[in-house]
Amino acid sequence: MELNNRQETILQIVKDNGPITGDKIAERLSLTRATLRPDLAILTMAGYLDARPRVGYFYTGKTGSQLLTERIKKLTVKDFQSMPVVVNESASVYDAIVNMFLEDVGTLFVVDGQSSLTGILSRKDLLRASMGKQDLESVPVSIIMTRMPNITSCSPDDLLIDVATKLISKQIDSVPVVKEVKKDGIQKLEVVGRITKTNITKAFVSIANDEIQ
Ligand code: ADP
Repeated sequence: MELNNRQETILQIVKDNGPITGDKIAERLSLTRATLRPDLAILTMAGYLDARPRVGYFYTGKTGSQLLTERIKKLTVKDFQSMPVVVNESASVYDAIVNMFLEDVGTLFVVDGQSSLTGILSRKDLLRASMGKQDLESVPVSIIMTRMPNITSCSPDDLLIDVATKLISKQIDSVPVVKEVKKDGIQKLEVVGRITKTNITKAFVSIANDEIQ
């Protein structure tokens, strides 16, 4: 985050004199407290300063890169996830290919009749299936998909950085966002979203554009 001249000056005053009250900072700059309020709010929200009631502002001692790291580690899946695209496990490989084109995604999540996650289909899974001599309209996706329990998933409250780490370590493009639900006494996973490399790229850009506090 880029600080403006006044914010840099405030930071220096607090570094040299903290803890110091907002009124005292305003006095040193010959400005009103009200004029300073937005700058103090920004410096506090960004983590450069901390404020204690009746004590005043003090410098946290954190560098720009420490603060950036802290912000990245606060990003959660639910703020960046996209809508999932699912197919039923009885759908044919042909239908899945059509779906992948129509929905313009690189990964399809496979669900059973109760909308619970049972598998996953990547572009290469479908390409591999298309290379054989089988009739694609008669082969169900359940035959070729990667199936549970070998699926890497995440939940809406997970940290985005942890999901990004999984994408790298497992060498996959996408992870379903799931919620655990009990159906007929059995624990199942309901697909509520997806995180792909594109979502991670968007998070990266929004940090650079200072869209996240
Ligand atoms: P592609 O193979 O098309 O480049 P991926 O790298 O995402 O796409 O997929 C590689 C393999 O891993 C495929 O067989 C796919 O079914 C499987 N796969 C993809 N995503 C996951 C996941 N979240 N959990 C487990 N397996 C996955």
